[in-house]
Amino acid sequence: MLVRFWGTRGSLAVAQTARSVRGKIARALIAADGRKFADEEAAAAFIDGELDFATGGTYGGATTCIEIEADGDGSFMLCDFGTGSREFGISAFSRIAQGHARIFNVFMSHLHWDHIGGFPFFGPAFDPNARIIIHSGHPDVEEAFRRQQEEISFPVAFDWMRAKIEFVHLKPGETYKIGGCDVDVMEQHHSHKSYGYRFTDRYGKTAVFSTDSEHKIDSMEGEEDVAAFFREADLVICDTMYSLADAVSMKEDWGHSSNIVAIDICHEAEAKRLALFHHEPIYSDEDIQRMHRESIRYEELTRREQPLEVLCAYDGLEVRL
Ligand SMILES: [Zn+2]
Ligand SMILES: [Zn+2]
Repeated sequence: MLVRFWGTRGSLAVAQTARSVRGKIARALIAADGRKFADEEAAAAFIDGELDFATGGTYGGATTCIEIEADGDGSFMLCDFGTGSREFGISAFSRIAQGHARIFNVFMSHLHWDHIGGFPFFGPAFDPNARIIIHSGHPDVEEAFRRQQEEISFPVAFDWMRAKIEFVHLKPGETYKIGGCDVDVMEQHHSHKSYGYRFTDRYGKTAVFSTDSEHKIDSMEGEEDVAAFFREADLVICDTMYSLADAVSMKEDWGHSSNIVAIDICHEAEAKRLALFHHEPIYSDEDIQRMHRESIRYEELTRREQPLEVLCAYDGLEVRL
């Protein structure tokens, strides 16, 4: 199974500014310390090998969109239609040109703007030969998609899209066979609810997509169901929007979780990898990198037996399970 992150930012898409790029270049020049590079390849090797990620790269700014590439029935498998789905659509077209099926199985965590806003810009939705099956725990999913394209908000109506678009209602607690994977569904704590999905491929590899869900550090006893859902997963993609300090102070009841709570639940579940996800739009690359490093330290301090590898998701990250 290959998991591709097309959008990792929470709540609102963000872009790097001229000022932030300037800061990265300045820090890179200082680190290079007058060194000369023969070509772009040599410079890239320096960036990858000697600069930290916040200097040499960026976590990115597109909102939630994750692709699960399993050796399944040949359809595309996608989680959420955040703004990252525009870029995914471009990639899908190039793979379709090489013979990939034009079938998309999409799993919706919920219907907030940052999770549906990429759909009007999703190229395959305009392809009359494409079939898009939108799976959701929400009975009002179709209404949400249609409403964001009403004339007052958007010039292209939902009915103008040429793909065959279907909506399928999934029930929490059930296991479905979709796209050649077993898909389990869990209801989560969030405004107007959200749903988590657990994908298991034919080789037994498991990825859990669990975003926009508030787990509270002082009510961990209530999190057994979540730990059971994450149980021994090869990868858990978890909403870790806030640092613990933010999560327990001013952002309590905002419907999101912290890096610390996510690590605690993953330890309880004996999961193998955690991807920090749904990054707070106010956080700079340096802030997110600091949170990632703190998360790794906290994991080492609280580890029981099996180590949990803590990744920090960024737009373009690929994780092979
Ligand atoms: Zn969100
Ligand atoms: Zn939300």
